Amino acid sequence: MQPFTYYMPTKVICGRDCVLSQGECFKALGTHALIVTGKSSAANGALGDVLAALAKNGQTATVFDRVTPNPTVACVREGVALLAAAGADCIVAIGGGSPMDAAKAIATLAVQERTDDEIFAGGYEARALPMAHVPTTAGTGSEVTPYTILTNDAKETKTSITSPAMFPRLAFLDGKYMAHLPVASTVNTALDAFSHAVEGMLSRNATPLSDALARESLHILYPLLRKTAGELTLDERDALLYASMLAGMTIAQSGTTAVHGMGYALTYFYGIDHGRANGLLLGGALRLCEKKKVPALADILAACGDTLEGVCVTIDALLGKKEDIPRARLEEFAVRAMGNKNIKKSAYEPTEEEVRAIYLGAFGR
Ligand code: NAP
Ligand code: FE
Repeated sequence: MQPFTYYMPTKVICGRDCVLSQGECFKALGTHALIVTGKSSAANGALGDVLAALAKNGQTATVFDRVTPNPTVACVREGVALLAAAGADCIVAIGGGSPMDAAKAIATLAVQERTDDEIFAGGYEARALPMAHVPTTAGTGSEVTPYTILTNDAKETKTSITSPAMFPRLAFLDGKYMAHLPVASTVNTALDAFSHAVEGMLSRNATPLSDALARESLHILYPLLRKTAGELTLDERDALLYASMLAGMTIAQSGTTAVHGMGYALTYFYGIDHGRANGLLLGGALRLCEKKKVPALADILAACGDTLEGVCVTIDALLGKKEDIPRARLEEFAVRAMGNKNIKKSAYEPTEEEVRAIYLGAFGR
């Protein structure tokens, strides 16, 4: 058997109303929590549930609800300052990938000082404040990964930072918080989860166990992909959230590959949602894998129960009208993407010419 290691120290708690019914789990985190979130968590019920659970335990909380999509270093610094002023000793993150990632960075920078120039330099020690995460989108799987992805203005991209201590201690999964997630967010985040499972299997760092998690994720997620453009039942929301977590557990081991590495430019320069950016590039990346006879492709399609053509049609139907990005810009993104470390993690490492062709094909250029 291929030698591998598996590390995922997050306690996952799934089920309807689990934040309330298993709220005593928060006790072990600390006495005063900084709740890191965006504006939507007050409306979707997650913030109320967390505040009620903490209060029942006799824990106090300070709410930092100023995280916006694609969190910046400035946002993280604001969170660290509020945490210190409030005397918080633990963090509860509520939201999509943006609040969850901001929370991981706050938890880390609160105990490891870095200048702005050093933030993306890597080499973090395995120290962070204890965290619980409550995802309110089904896509990033950030609740079970050791990564945070922040906007890196110096390099005009998004860059991930990692440390084993960025794994949350607890993750609470309840699809009820997604009952009113807008259709576009549901589609885009599902595409992100799909991309994680697929890219995990296309990674040089894939292991038998990360592949098993990815296959199960695709098996559940793929039949639901088309449905994300319409009404979803709460059971289907739960299933999407579970599949997203499995895909997160996959990339926690394998990392992401070319598609994510290429998608960051679309988000940074054109504000395209992270999941949609991946969805736009995925079809071309899969077609390249077919051309290069990448062995994992057959396994991916078997888990989806569809042909390559069928998968590409499904993704295209969800994407709808494509953005109008000039050819010269896309060619520039290809040069940039070659500097991204994720490209080198791909089982088949695409050449610059192939990366350019994927960008151009994604926008019909
Ligand atoms: P997001 O940026 O967290 O949220 C997108 C929008 O959805 C926000 O406007 C948010 O509103 C709203 N929203 C969230 N939950 C909602 C709900 N239940 N009901 C209604 N509206 C809701 O989007 P995301 O796609 O989940 O996260 C993307 C980020 O995650 C990117 O920065 C990406 O790079 C990162 N990511 C991280 C990992 C990882 O392993 N760490 C993996 C993949 C992606 P409010 O802001 O007002 O609350
Ligand atoms: Fe992602």
